[in-house]
Order: sequence, then structure tokens, then C-alpha cells
Amino acid sequence: MSQDCARVALCVDCQHRGRGLIFNSEDDMHLRCRALRWRFFCAELSEIGSKLLYLLLQKSKLMKRGISLILTALVLMSAPAFGQTKSDIEKRLEQIGLKNVAEEIPGIEVYMVYATPYNFMGRVLYKDLDEAYLVPEAIEKLKKANALLRKKRMDLHLVVYDAARPRSIQEQMWKVVENTELQSFVANPYKRGGGPHNYGIAVDVTLVDCTGHPIPMGSEYDYFGDRSRVDIEDKLLEKGEITRRELANRRLLREIMTEAGWRVDPGEWWHFNAMPLAEASQKLTVIK
Ligand SMILES: [Zn+2]
Repeated sequence: MSQDCARVALCVDCQHRGRGLIFNSEDDMHLRCRALRWRFFCAELSEIGSKLLYLLLQKSKLMKRGISLILTALVLMSAPAFGQTKSDIEKRLEQIGLKNVAEEIPGIEVYMVYATPYNFMGRVLYKDLDEAYLVPEAIEKLKKANALLRKKRMDLHLVVYDAARPRSIQEQMWKVVENTELQSFVANPYKRGGGPHNYGIAVDVTLVDCTGHPIPMGSEYDYFGDRSRVDIEDKLLEKGEITRRELANRRLLREIMTEAGWRVDPGEWWHFNAMPLAEASQKLTVIK
């Protein structure tokens, strides 16, 4: 944890922002985590300010509620990720009717991989988009999947890696894989007006445990190879390329998603569509 950057936690389960707490060590953080999920981010409070707040929070349990409110105000002022400042693209997505996943589904985690350099392109693609957006029909299905998971496994959470993706970004991805063996892993942006992510009907998801670590699925997210495939899992298991546990984890993810109405992509265990692409291209607007 950086010295000059206090971590502020918000309860991901109930999205109650008034329960902000500052932790002074990773151990403290884990002690408090237990079954509840907390979202951490840098509040960029000054070192003195954060220490003072921490001491105050430690001082009295009764004071915590009041202090939390002050802290919440500070957090909201310094954390655009929580919806106070929306980027132009985020505003545009809302204008065309898409909804913000984190705002609509309490308890779900959002970590937009393309808003970081840790993706197959090795650079930040979503320069002003770090929130997940989907069409309302898809939001309802994801809400249902999340509720089903809560019933089956209280210790696990859904994390969204990608959702609505502007077609301009799809074009950049396509340029990298076009006419290579990786071509089948990226939707062609020039067919049917775009791929399912370009209509806001697709979501890339996985499951994380209560410490926030993704549970093993047999391949990394966006791994371009057979181990990502859903349609040859029995063979992968036979050849020892995925384990029984990894297969069971994939099945659990698929079970909650399909029960909620999502369609499986045979090539990628993490990708699900809320409707066929042909249907989306007829009734929805492509995100440019
Ligand atoms: Zn996808």
C-alpha cells in the first residue's frame, strides 16, 4: 500500500458508501474483509488527513457513522469511478439507453481489463471508459445471474471484465488479429455493423472468491487458444489441459448465466451474449 495514498473501502455487497473505512495495513484490510466484499481505491487523501481519519475511526464505534459521512463526501469528490464524473463516452452510452452495471446491480464487481494495459493488446484501449455498460435487457439477465450466484455460493462474486465496447476500439483490435491465426478470437467489426460487444449485449465475466481473487478456470481471460474453448472441455480434461476443479468452476459460471438467459460462446468460457447478434443488429444501435 502506498504511503501517500489511503485506501478507502466501500461495501460491494450493499453498495453502502457511508461505511467507508481506512485501513492502515493489508492485514487489517483482510481481517475486515471476511465474508463481505470491499471495494478498494485510492482516495488520494493527504497522509496527515488519512491518518487523522483513521485515528478517529478507531476511536469510537459510535463516531464511525458520522465520520463515514464526511469520508463519503471526500470519497465522492475524489472518486470519479463512482459516478460523480462521467466521461463523454459514458454519457453517450447512457443517452442511447445503456445502463451502468455497477449502479444497477449491487454486489457485482467491475474491472474493465481494456481500461488497463493488462490485456492482449498490452495498452490501454478504453481511455475514457472504466465502467461497464449494457442494454437494459442484458442488465436484467446479469442481475438474475448475480442473484442465482448469491443463492448457490455466498462466497463467490461475479466480476465483469468487459461489456459495451465502441466499434472504434473493435477496429483497433481487428487490425492486430486480421489475417492471423488469432482472427477467430475477435469479432469482425465490419460484419453486421459490429460484434456483440459493440451493441452492448455481450459481457465477459468470471468468478472471484471473497479475497477478490479469480477462481481457476483453466485459462486466463482472453487466452487465445484451445484452453479457452467450451465445446471441447471433455477432451481438454482428458488431455490434462484443464483440471476437474477448473471444469467445475466453468460449469458453475455457465449454470448461473444460462439459467438467467445468457447464451454461451463455444470459443470463450468468459463470454456470454444476451441475444443473438442478428437480433441485436436489427433492433439496436451500434456504439460508434
Ligand atoms: Zn467478450
